[in-house]
Amino acid sequence: MGASESKNQSLPLSHSGGKRDEELILPLNSSLSVTLHQEQLKTTTTAAISKDFTEDRVWLNGQEQDTGQLRLQACLQEIRRLARKRRSAQDGDMLPLSLSYKVHVASVNSFPTAAGLASSAAGYACLAYTLARVYGVDSDLSEVARRGSGSACRSLYGGFVEWQMGQQADGKDSVARQVAPESHWPELRILILVVSADKKPTSSTAGMQASVDTSALLRFRAEAVVPARMAEMARCIRERDFCGFAQLTMKDSNQFHATCLDTFPPICYLNDTSRHIMQLVHRFNTHHGDTKAAYTFDAGPNAVIFTLDDTVAEFLAAVKHSFPPESNGDTFLKGLPVRPVPLSDELKAALAMEPVPGGVRYVIATQVGPGPQVLDDPHTHLLGLDGLPKLAA
Ligand code: ADP
Repeated sequence: MGASESKNQSLPLSHSGGKRDEELILPLNSSLSVTLHQEQLKTTTTAAISKDFTEDRVWLNGQEQDTGQLRLQACLQEIRRLARKRRSAQDGDMLPLSLSYKVHVASVNSFPTAAGLASSAAGYACLAYTLARVYGVDSDLSEVARRGSGSACRSLYGGFVEWQMGQQADGKDSVARQVAPESHWPELRILILVVSADKKPTSSTAGMQASVDTSALLRFRAEAVVPARMAEMARCIRERDFCGFAQLTMKDSNQFHATCLDTFPPICYLNDTSRHIMQLVHRFNTHHGDTKAAYTFDAGPNAVIFTLDDTVAEFLAAVKHSFPPESNGDTFLKGLPVRPVPLSDELKAALAMEPVPGGVRYVIATQVGPGPQVLDDPHTHLLGLDGLPKLAA
């Protein structure tokens, strides 16, 4: 049995929001994301192949999955195709038997799955990376990850990552590239405000397809807005221009959600708490006379806040003031420690909000992180020597 394991996770700054080719998963526009640190949010995946396995089997968070899912099948087919291509280039017609072996995969997310926190991106990137090691593939994995979830190709790298939409019909130039490494902007802090960890009612994939089919705003955005924004976002990142970065991040999130509302029937990922959080950020910035925090929302009500290390404590205090933790005061903050600070009366007055107890269930503090990592310690493997999950549900 050959086994391999890796971990990773990332979130969008600039939304891809729709496909021009649903089968090859080619986007309508380019997009950009930041990879979050695995010490706070991660997917861990173990894969093994063996001549003794009689079928491909996949377990996610301990639950066995239907391997007939098209996305999963497409990933497996693509990695096996790349493995065959590589071996036949090396060994002529002598393809090793292991290429016909069935695979077992176990994966666990350390954060809510299917709740709008991009578990599909982290999950499929980690799957592509892990399968590549098991099958001995060392080529660009953008296509394998993309077949699972488009945004997963960005999660194959650490730091700030662009998914270039590409022009070719076969998608060969639709690949992810790193814009800046994780060490580039060490002051950047990220707070994930978990409003709901429930599974979202509309999956991102179904939602995006409906938007492509019905939203004129989505087409306009892809053609007339995103290209210039991508260039400007890359500049803000390169120059560590927080104000420009923050404003563009918020505008892009708002426009993405506007395309959701422009979809027919409309899709609403945001809820009242999400809108309260947006108001909180704008009032916080107005109070400071400067853009010191930004929000972005993916396909769900949970907010991702960007700020800098000199502001994170005050912003968290503003969140606690506006959304007083209910019973879980001690467990409200997860991830990186943030020193508690008092909130000034002036800022309290500027927020001018009726507190919503329990509106934010908990906060995960994190920072920019590296791409997939190989875990060599066999104790961390999710599959036992029998090829079955150690922690099956
Ligand atoms: P999210 O906002 O979390 O990406 P989606 O509904 O878009 O939510 O995607 C969730 C789906 O992604 C899951 O149902 C599963 O098919 C896939 N997924 C999530 N995590 C993993 C993982 N660790 N490994 C493989 N696939 C995963």
